[in-house]
Amino acid sequence: MTTLLGCIADDFTGATDLAGMLARSGVPVSLRIGVPDKVPDNTAAFEVIALKSRTEPVDVAVAECRKALAWLQAAGATRFFWKYCSTFDSTPQGNIGPVAEALMADIGTDQTIYCPAFPENGRAIFMGNLFVGAQPLHESPMKDHPLTPMTDANLMRLLEPQVTKPVGLANRLTVARGAAALRTRLDDLRAQGVAHVIVDAVADEDLHVIAEACQNMALLTGGSAVAMPLPMLWLKDGTLTASQASRTVPDIDSGAIVLSGSCSAMTRAQVAHYLQNATGYLLDPRVLAKDGPQAALDWLAAQPITANPIIYATADPAEVKASQAALGVAQAGSVVENALAQLALQARTMGIGRFVVAGGETSGAVTRALGVAQLDVRCEIAPGVPWTFCQTDGRDIALALKSGNFGAATFFEDALEMELK
Ligand code: ADP
Repeated sequence: MTTLLGCIADDFTGATDLAGMLARSGVPVSLRIGVPDKVPDNTAAFEVIALKSRTEPVDVAVAECRKALAWLQAAGATRFFWKYCSTFDSTPQGNIGPVAEALMADIGTDQTIYCPAFPENGRAIFMGNLFVGAQPLHESPMKDHPLTPMTDANLMRLLEPQVTKPVGLANRLTVARGAAALRTRLDDLRAQGVAHVIVDAVADEDLHVIAEACQNMALLTGGSAVAMPLPMLWLKDGTLTASQASRTVPDIDSGAIVLSGSCSAMTRAQVAHYLQNATGYLLDPRVLAKDGPQAALDWLAAQPITANPIIYATADPAEVKASQAALGVAQAGSVVENALAQLALQARTMGIGRFVVAGGETSGAVTRALGVAQLDVRCEIAPGVPWTFCQTDGRDIALALKSGNFGAATFFEDALEMELK
């Protein structure tokens, strides 16, 4: 199968978010962790490559993104999407602008749009200024971000120092007049040599207009929301064929396990809720540091396959502080991650089919242990957290990776009650 749209995301959560948005339409979406060495025969219609380039030095980020682009082109992609954060997280040097310019040069296109708006999550752009809820970006909590503090809300001013070619604006008044008006505005700007166009969007309707107007551009850039309408638009005009758009469901063994290494407030509520009706095993970092994970492995081995148990290190802030004081922050984290990784391997050996993992770092440790580098992204359990299918040790499993504060208190039950499709 040939890929149509190739996406590059500057972090893993952003990639999952984008993949989930595209998969809402029912088309095959594949998420790859890093740039694979080879291009397999059966790439999906929509391919998303997750990088970790958001805060890397500009030259490193550009090189990685170009490598990802080359892989996507080899997979057959002819349209591309550069996904960054909906709060435009970047330093004055980059990496949003330099990567976009490098991709434009390699693709051979002279204009792209920038639309990080995500109205459902309170990110809106008006007259080129980005708002987080009611606050301009530079008054929002993003002003204090440790790595990418955002001190200006104006996307033109933010982008200009990052690129060599002119920056322009297609404002909300144009977008409100519809796709044809927006296309005319983009053509006018192109005639003036404007390569980088910020596009206003304050509501979902605006995103539909933008997607419709820009569906034939070789490169789009922005947050995940503006990409959501693309599959349906391409199905409608025949760019995407019905056979490219169909997906199959693999056979997944029964039995499920929840592994939680997240200590966020929402995960604590989710663990407490799940424990009301499920058996669970609490991991204590100090015990793990002393005795290793064997007791937990033995406990898991004794559970019936239908028990759907939870194993968790999830603890309240005072507990976390106490283990960190005893072991150091790094060791407290790594003994837990290592134990959950080994437990995932044992669950696989037991023939468990569905894995729900809570915690961003924890998810990284579990996917590494299982040797998972590619995920077929399916139905969303909660916004931004899809069920995925992947292969581990030659077997198909279902995997849900949830970072920190995502999902409602019933997230684990919601995940396990869902029909996998
Ligand atoms: P989140 O997505 O909520 O940030 P992460 O998995 O990314 O979750 O990070 C949580 C970190 O805290 C992991 O490194 C994990 O191993 C560690 N951790 C989990 N439980 C404890 C605990 N009880 N004490 C100390 N550290 C813990």
